[in-house]
Amino acid sequence: AQQRKPLIAGNWKCNLNHFEAIALVQKVAFALPEKYYDKVDVTVLVPFTDIRSVQTVVDGDKLLLTYGAQDVSQHDSGAYTGEISGAFLSKLGVTFVAVGHSERRTLHGETDEVVLAKTKAALRHGLTPIVCIGEGLEIREAGEHVAYNVAQLKASLAGLSAEEISKLVVAYEPVWAIGTGRVASAEDAQEVCAAVRQALAELTDAATAAGVRVLYGGSVSAKNVAEIVGQADVDGALVGGASLKADEFAQLSAIA
Ligand code: PEP
Repeated sequence: AQQRKPLIAGNWKCNLNHFEAIALVQKVAFALPEKYYDKVDVTVLVPFTDIRSVQTVVDGDKLLLTYGAQDVSQHDSGAYTGEISGAFLSKLGVTFVAVGHSERRTLHGETDEVVLAKTKAALRHGLTPIVCIGEGLEIREAGEHVAYNVAQLKASLAGLSAEEISKLVVAYEPVWAIGTGRVASAEDAQEVCAAVRQALAELTDAATAAGVRVLYGGSVSAKNVAEIVGQADVDGALVGGASLKADEFAQLSAIA
């Protein structure tokens, strides 16, 4: 992890309207002095309806915090009612976009093919996709988690060039650890993140894979972030619940 700058990404999920978003961003900015950004990148993935408000605060106060979205359409424009294009996000100064979060894969039936199409859409518009993968409890208990995650990753990135892969972030989020309070051990996180890096090397080359940030996500808090992000192949965290608490989110960003 030493050669890669850690990234802490808060995933607000379907929480906080635009007023509440402004308040939380201001509190996080107050709690996390600028000097920390030399060592860590910090971003918040917010509901679409919050983006403009968050942009106003970030730009107005020249914050080093970046912001992003939780999903993006695979289409750039057209007859796709309800979809949000990467072009719109990039126009709003968005940096990151989560793609293939397990809640999208499970609740919205997003397949690896859809995740790949969304990853391409994000890259087309200069956004940094955070491509999420992760196994369910049954696969973990069957001991098949490494092979499962490698297969999901390869299918979600199929056909991308080394240059494209060098521009994205991968997040390993075991489904059984998301929102459950049940954290993977630091060794569990390292095992899969190392396998992810190996798979990235097979898709590209060792030097490219060494530059890609691989995050862990699943019940990360200020208490456990140091041990997890201290692992050789874990380059930060995707944080759900704890990202809604300004002090804890700032604290865990500072620790990472
Ligand atoms: C997430 O939403 O990606 C997540 C990891 O949630 P939590 O931290 O609440 O488990």
